[in-house]
Amino acid sequence: MNYQEVWQAALGELELTLSKANFTTWFKQTGLLALDDCAATIAVPNAFTKTWFEKKYHAAILKALSHASSGTVKNVLYQVDARPVSTSPIMDTGRPTDRFTASAAAVSQKTSFSPDPTNVFGMNPKYTFESFIVGKQNEMASAAAKAIVDRPGQIYNPLFLYGGVGLGKTHLMQAVGNAIIARLPQTRVLYCTCERFTNDFIQSVRGGRAKDFRDQYRNVDLLMIDDIQFIAGKKETQEEFFNTFNHLHQTNKQIILTSDRPPKAILAEERLLSRLEWGLTSDIGQPDFETRLAILEAKCKEKNFSIDPDILNIVANTITSNIRELEGALIKIMANCQLRNIAPSTEFVKQLLQSFSSSAGKRSTTPKQVLAIVAEYFDVPMVELLGASREKRLAHPRQVAMYILRQELKVSYPAIGVEVGGRDHTTAMHAFDKVSHNKDEDLKLKQDLEVLKEKIYSQTA
Ligand code: ADP
Ligand code: MG
Repeated sequence: MNYQEVWQAALGELELTLSKANFTTWFKQTGLLALDDCAATIAVPNAFTKTWFEKKYHAAILKALSHASSGTVKNVLYQVDARPVSTSPIMDTGRPTDRFTASAAAVSQKTSFSPDPTNVFGMNPKYTFESFIVGKQNEMASAAAKAIVDRPGQIYNPLFLYGGVGLGKTHLMQAVGNAIIARLPQTRVLYCTCERFTNDFIQSVRGGRAKDFRDQYRNVDLLMIDDIQFIAGKKETQEEFFNTFNHLHQTNKQIILTSDRPPKAILAEERLLSRLEWGLTSDIGQPDFETRLAILEAKCKEKNFSIDPDILNIVANTITSNIRELEGALIKIMANCQLRNIAPSTEFVKQLLQSFSSSAGKRSTTPKQVLAIVAEYFDVPMVELLGASREKRLAHPRQVAMYILRQELKVSYPAIGVEVGGRDHTTAMHAFDKVSHNKDEDLKLKQDLEVLKEKIYSQTA
């Protein structure tokens, strides 16, 4: 038996029994390391996940693996294996020489819960113009992006794309990069997230390697910075970005930026804002029904999956605000049909979407509930959490609460300010940026967030 398929099938079953949030939080970076005799060894990204699996999910994992292997698997062990799934060279070649990464690659191809494979430029080779469906909401953005491929650095410079989460900003930006590389392979392309830019900058300053940083970021023909909103409030990084920008712009090198907020909301500085006016700012809105349907059809075709048009209609009608979720729902339907070897029926799909509908789940959690969970978790009284004191024991839980309200419930910044003791929206924005940034380096914070998310979704599941 092919044990990658076994883990695939087990994941399929686990996904059905858990909330989407739990499933992605815990199972995203797992893989099947080995299957010896009757024992399966599961690779987990850190010790925390290992403990969590042993304590909480062991029975479910064992059951799913037992089902998936027709009873062969009788025991499960967990092993910390921190090799990053996304950057493994195996992912690029697809050579099945390494058990863990090969199975992780298989997961990533079949479903969306693992990081996508990347090419040498750190971009996803699947993000092309061919696979990008154009509708009213992204017509202008995609036309501008295409124009840039023909004449980089000469028309819209910079191109600033902004829009909500999961609406195709990263896809469109990388489509430009991929198309330019395909057309002019010698072009020097640099794609990075804003976090990466920020970290590289900070590290280079600390290590006295400012020149290296400049060499890297200024000797390019195309610079793409994804999610530039994270630069908000970072003064030195903004300054460096300003200098990088000027250097590239003066030499007619193309710059593309994406953000989930319009420029004014992230760049306090007039001179930075005025630079953006040299180029084109285009927003990407929510897709209408026709576009959602077209996207679903395209994804089915790409994956060679035939499905009744009525069913696609149901999916397009149910998931309306986020293309990533739309795709996720389709993948879930496909995985389940393949697993059970049945053609999807309308009933079945409706049922699946119900359990899938994380946004419905999210909507049913109120900000008040989140605040109560956070207060309890950090053991601080609600009045103090909402109060004016800036003591650290209160300020930290408060910032975490604001982060969760934004990240999970998608509450607007002004509304978060109101909920959390009548604060200004800039306080909420600052809290969000701070927690987003710190969580990658601060393991304790990361774990707190995971546990809190778990509590929030298990309460409202
Ligand atoms: P964002 O960066 O805005 O959060 P992404 O670019 O990551 O969103 O898009 C989320 C997912 O939806 C990706 O898998 C992407 O391929 C897909 N997607 C988004 N917009 C489109 C589109 N217009 N056509 C096809 N797929 C799309
Ligand atoms: Mg993105």
